[in-house]
Amino acid sequence: MTEDIYDLIVVGAGPGGYVAAIRAAQLGMKVAVIERRESLGGVCLNEGCIPSKALLDSSELFAMARDSFAGHGIDVSPPKLDIPRMMARKDDVVKKLTDGVAFLFKKNKIKRFKGAGVLLKGGTATGPHRVRVTDEASGDSPQELSGKRVLLATGSTATELKDLPFDQKLVVSAREALCFESVPKHLLVVGGGFIGLELGSVWLRLGARVTVVEMLPNILPNMDRKTADQLMRSLKKQGMEFLLQSKITKTVRTKEGATVTLERKDSSEEITCDRILVAVGRSPLTRDLGLEESGVRLDERGRIIVDKDFQTSVPGVYAIGDLVPGPMLAHKASEDGVVFAERLAGQSSQVEYDIIPGIIYTWPEAASVGRSEEQLKQDGVEFAVGKFPFSANGRARCLDETDGFVKVLASPDSGRVLGIHIVGPRASDLIAEAVMVMNFGGSAQDIALTVHAHPTLSEALKE
Ligand code: FAD
Repeated sequence: MTEDIYDLIVVGAGPGGYVAAIRAAQLGMKVAVIERRESLGGVCLNEGCIPSKALLDSSELFAMARDSFAGHGIDVSPPKLDIPRMMARKDDVVKKLTDGVAFLFKKNKIKRFKGAGVLLKGGTATGPHRVRVTDEASGDSPQELSGKRVLLATGSTATELKDLPFDQKLVVSAREALCFESVPKHLLVVGGGFIGLELGSVWLRLGARVTVVEMLPNILPNMDRKTADQLMRSLKKQGMEFLLQSKITKTVRTKEGATVTLERKDSSEEITCDRILVAVGRSPLTRDLGLEESGVRLDERGRIIVDKDFQTSVPGVYAIGDLVPGPMLAHKASEDGVVFAERLAGQSSQVEYDIIPGIIYTWPEAASVGRSEEQLKQDGVEFAVGKFPFSANGRARCLDETDGFVKVLASPDSGRVLGIHIVGPRASDLIAEAVMVMNFGGSAQDIALTVHAHPTLSEALKE
C-alpha cells in the first residue's frame, strides 16, 4: 500500500490552524490536521474567547437584574445565582461551536489526527516533511504522517510567574478562572491586560471583591491612554479595585487562601485573598515541537520567525497565529490562516496588520483600531481629534449606558482616518464601521456624510 502524502499537514486546530485547513481544502489541497485535545477550536473556542464571552454575557444579565432593572421601573426579587447552570450553559455554547468545526472538517474532507505533533528533521523544500503524532491517552503507538508542507499553529499558553507558579487551585490561569465552582470572596488579578479585566469583571458582577494588581503605572499599556483611563474609571465605579505600580513580593498560603505582600515605590501592604488569577500575558507554544532539531528559528521573544508567506527558516514549514509576531488575537490568527493558504495556492492575499481591531469585552466595552494618540505623537504624525461622549447620544441615554466616548483621530489635511478608539456600550460592534472605513482608506468626512440610523449608538461615530 502506498503511503498518503498530504499537500498540507496542520499542527494545532485553533482559529489559526482550523481556518487555514479549511481554506486550503477549499482551494483543492489534501489536508491533515493534528490536534492534541479532544475537541477542535483551540484556546479560542475551548478556554478563551468563547467561554469568557459566554460568562461575560451571563454575568452582565445577572448584574443588570440586580443593579439596573429597578432604574427601568422593573422590580424583581433579588436574582439568585446558579453557578453550575451558568457553567453548563457556557459549556454548551462551546460544544456547539467546536462540533461545528468538526462538521466543517468532514464537509471539506480534512483528515483529523488526535495527538501531539512533532516535526521530524530531514524535510526539504521539495521532499516531504514528516510529523510524528503521539496520543498518550489512547496508548496507541505513534504514527508518522508525510506532507509536502507543514503548518505550525500550536498557539500560546498562559505565562507563569516564577514566584507564583500555577497550582490550579489558589493560583490559577484563565482556564481555571472560567470554571470556578463558586464565587471567590476576594479575587486578586495579577496583570491589567484584557484577560484579567474581562475575567475580573465576570466575578465582580457575580459578587466577588476584585483587586487588579499591575506593575506598570497604567492598565492596558498599549491602548490609547485616555480610552484606557476612561475604562478604568468606569470599572472603578463598579467596584473593581486597582493597585498600580505594585508588585507581589511574598505570598503566604493560609487555610482560607493567601496573604499577599504588595510593594510599591515607597510603601508595602498586605492583602488577603482566596484566589489569584495570574494574567500577565501569553507565551508561544513552541516547546516539544521538534523546532530546534529541525532548524526552525525563533526571535528573542520565543516567536517563530516567518516571511510574508508565513514560511519559517525551514523551507516548506510555515507558522501562523499566536506562534508568530503580531497581536495574539483569534481574528488575527484566522486572517493569517486564510492568507497563508491563499498565498500557498498562488494568490496575492495579504493581512492588513495595521488595521486589526482590539477589543476589551468589559462593560462598558473598549475597542480600538489604528494608531493611538501616543503612537501618532511618537511617529511624528500630525492629527486632529474628534471626540463625542455617549452621554449626548440618544440611544445610550435610553439604555442608561452613558459612560464613555468615541474618538476619531484623522489627518488634519486629508481627513484620512488614522485611528478610532471607543469606550462605551457595544463598542465591540461599533468598531466594525471604523475598521471598514480604515480598510478603504476613508476619511472622517466619509463617516460624517454617511447616513446613520437614529437613534443608534453608531451615531456617536458620525458625530
Ligand atoms: P490556539 O487557539 O492556541 O490553538 C492552538 C491549538 O494547538 C490548541 O488547540 C492546542 O491544543 C494545539 N496544540 C498545541 N501543541 C500541539 C501539538 N504539539 N500537537 C497538536 N496540537 C497542539 N482573542 C480574541 O481575538 N478575542 C477574544 O475575545 C479573546 N479572548 C480570550 C480570552 C482568554 C481567556 C484567552 C486565554 C485568550 C483570548 N483570546 C481572544 C486570544 C485567542 O484565544 C488566541 O489569540 C487564539 O486562540 C490564537 O489562535 P491560534 O490558532 O494561534 O492558537
